[in-house]
Amino acid sequence: VSPQPAVPMGPPLVNEPVVFTGLKAKETLWIDRYESAGGYAMLREIMAAKDRTRIMNEIESSGLSGRGGGAFPMAPKLKNVMKNPKPHYVVANADEGEPGTFKDRYIMERDPHSFIEGMILASYAIDADAGYIYLREEYPHSYQILLKALDEARAKGYLGKNILGTGWDYDIRIYRGGGAYICGEDSSLLNSLEGKRGTPRNKPPRLSDIGLWKKPTDVNNVETFAAIPRILKEGGAWYKSLGDEKSAGTKLFCLSGNIRRPGIYEVPLGATLRHLIEELGGGVPEGRKFKAVLPAGSASSMLYPVQMDMALDYPTVKAAGAFLGAASLIVMDDSVCMVDLAFWMSGFYHHESCGQCTPCRDGTEDIHEVLQKIVMGEGELSHLEFIKSLGEYMRTASICGLGTSAPNIPISSIEHFEEEWREHILDHRCRTGICSMSRKK
Ligand code: SF4
Repeated sequence: VSPQPAVPMGPPLVNEPVVFTGLKAKETLWIDRYESAGGYAMLREIMAAKDRTRIMNEIESSGLSGRGGGAFPMAPKLKNVMKNPKPHYVVANADEGEPGTFKDRYIMERDPHSFIEGMILASYAIDADAGYIYLREEYPHSYQILLKALDEARAKGYLGKNILGTGWDYDIRIYRGGGAYICGEDSSLLNSLEGKRGTPRNKPPRLSDIGLWKKPTDVNNVETFAAIPRILKEGGAWYKSLGDEKSAGTKLFCLSGNIRRPGIYEVPLGATLRHLIEELGGGVPEGRKFKAVLPAGSASSMLYPVQMDMALDYPTVKAAGAFLGAASLIVMDDSVCMVDLAFWMSGFYHHESCGQCTPCRDGTEDIHEVLQKIVMGEGELSHLEFIKSLGEYMRTASICGLGTSAPNIPISSIEHFEEEWREHILDHRCRTGICSMSRKK
C-alpha cells in the first residue's frame, strides 16, 4: 500500500490532439467508452487474421521511435527480439521520473486502454510470452487505474489464455518501482524488475538480445505503446507524415515552469520552440523575459531565446548541442538564477547517482560541493574551469546517461551566463535576489 495519497490528475490535454485523442477526456476512459470510440477494433481485426506481420510493417513504416527519451526506432528492436529464441518479453517503462515530465501519467490515468492495447499489439507482433509494466512508486493513482483497466481487458478476453481464439496466451503484470530515478534507465529497470539492485548494465549486449532474465526483451515507454493502436488504424505512412522530414509523428510535450499555460500539448515533431512556448503556452508571465528552457527535464543542456525558431525534432535539437529526451520543457524567465539552478540540479544528480561507476559517483558529489561553495559565497573563478573539465570527463567516462547528463546544466549555464557566475563569485551578489546566496544573507 502506497503511503502517498492517490491524487487525481488535473485538466485534460490542452490543445487538440491528433494521435492521443483519448487525452481530451475529462475522466478515465474505461473499457466500454474506449471500445465505443473504436478501441480494441484493431486488436480484434489483427487477431482474427492472425496477422503479426501487419503490426510489424505498420510500426516500421510509421518511423515510430522511443518516446521515453532515447528516440531509438521501435521496429528494429521488435525485429531483433523476434529473431532470438523464446521466451520473449515486453516491458513498459512507466517510471516517469524525469523532472517536469507528466505525460505518461496522463495516458495511464485518462486513456489507459490505448496504452494497454498498444502493448498487447506490440507483444503479439513478437509472440511475447509475458508483459510487465514497471510503474513508478509515486503514481499510486495510476496504479489503481491500471489494475482496474487490466482486469477489464482480461474480462473481454484481450488478455489471458487463448486470446480471442488465437491460441496465444499472454498477460501483463504491474511491478512498482521504489522511487529511484536511475530505474527509468531501461537496463536498471530490468535489474530492478528481477529483484536486484537497480543499476545500469553495460551495453552491448542489447536488451533485445539479452534482457529480462537474460531473455530477449522489448522495452518501450508508455507513450510509445499508446501510439500503436492509432498507427494500426490510420496506417504507418499517415503517422510518419505528421512529423517533419527528420522525425516521424507527433510528440506529447510537457510545458512547465515560468509559463502562462502549463500543461500537456501534442504537436508534430519539428514544431518550433516559439510555437510551443509563445503560441501554445502563452509565453512567460507578464513583465518577464524568456531566459532559457530545459528541453528534456534535467537531462539536457539548455536552449535560449536565439533558438526560438528551431525545429523541435530529435536530430535538430541534437545538432544544437542539446537533446529532446521525453520533451519536458521547463521554461525559465529572468527571475531564475542560473547559478542556483545548476546548484539544485547538481544536488538532484548527486542524490540519484547509483554509485556504480566512479566518474558519476564522485563527479556528481564534487560538482555539487563546488557549486555549494559558490552559492555560499566561497567560490573562486578556478571552480568554473574545474566544473567544465570534470564535467567533460563525466560525459565521456560514465557508464550511463545519468552520469553523462549530470554536468549538462552546470556547463551550459557557465557557458551562456558567465556574467552571473562572476557576480556570484567576485561580488557575492545575485541579480535575481531569490537564489540560495540571497537566502543566506
Ligand atoms: Fe550509476 Fe551514474 Fe554510473 Fe550511471 S553513470 S552507472 S547512474 S554511477
